[in-house]
Amino acid sequence: MSGAVYTLGVDIGSTASKAVVLRDGETIASMSVIPVGAGTTGPYRAITSALEDAGKRIEDMMCVCSTGYGRNSLPGSEFDVSELSCHAKGSYALFPGVHTVIDIGGQDVKAIRVGDGGRLVNFVMNDKCAAGTGRFLDVMARVLELKVSELATMDAKSLNQINISSTCTVFAESEVISNLSKQIPIEDIVAGIHRSVASRVIGLAKRIGIEEKVVMTGGVAQNAGVVRCLERGLGVHVHTSPNSQVIGALGAAIFAYERVIKTMANK
Ligand code: ADP
Repeated sequence: MSGAVYTLGVDIGSTASKAVVLRDGETIASMSVIPVGAGTTGPYRAITSALEDAGKRIEDMMCVCSTGYGRNSLPGSEFDVSELSCHAKGSYALFPGVHTVIDIGGQDVKAIRVGDGGRLVNFVMNDKCAAGTGRFLDVMARVLELKVSELATMDAKSLNQINISSTCTVFAESEVISNLSKQIPIEDIVAGIHRSVASRVIGLAKRIGIEEKVVMTGGVAQNAGVVRCLERGLGVHVHTSPNSQVIGALGAAIFAYERVIKTMANK
């Protein structure tokens, strides 16, 4: 074979669509995140943007693998792999030696035990309730008239974090509104919201046991306030990457590369 092998991984989430173009199974040639997910034009736009940035066409991709909530709905995808396996695989590529992955996405949260080579060993998941997910943060940010990308900076200013006692998103939203009307500083409310998310996630993650190295993936890993709360609560360092949101798509692109190599070996 001559020339580089390009593969495409597409993660069609409930909230965002992500794509990674991978060169030779290890170099990210380009990536994209479009903030709308399954059932929208998001997947198509994510693919177009990643291909354009890599200066490639879809025909140049030797294999396409999809993952995420909407993984069965992508025309042109040769195969799909569960997001659990893809987050394990992608995390291992960026953080060799990872044993625990905490993925907080738009509508669910997963704690994944990772074995040798980025193999999925075990997992626990909450996809029944918005508390502890990105959705909870999206709702609260809207009430506070902030962007989710501003929450961490706000949290860093807090001197007196409040306690959010409701676990239900709807009741927690009312609690936040009530705190706002009592003139509680926004930063202290944000810090309380982050602690509430972290405590839900910690409860879940402890069910599979926390073994270092611990990596956080998904869009919420970009929120340093939540990461800090998790570190305090778990008593371990939590590794994150600026590319945390595309780690599932990266895992899918690696699976696609492995398929290409296997097919060639069988020829
Ligand atoms: P899914 O795969 O379920 O679609 P993602 O892993 O893409 O979810 O994460 C989406 C979530 O990430 C959003 O709900 C939002 O709360 C959070 N998020 C996205 N961008 C940022 C950012 N820049 N800072 C903090 N949080 C973010």
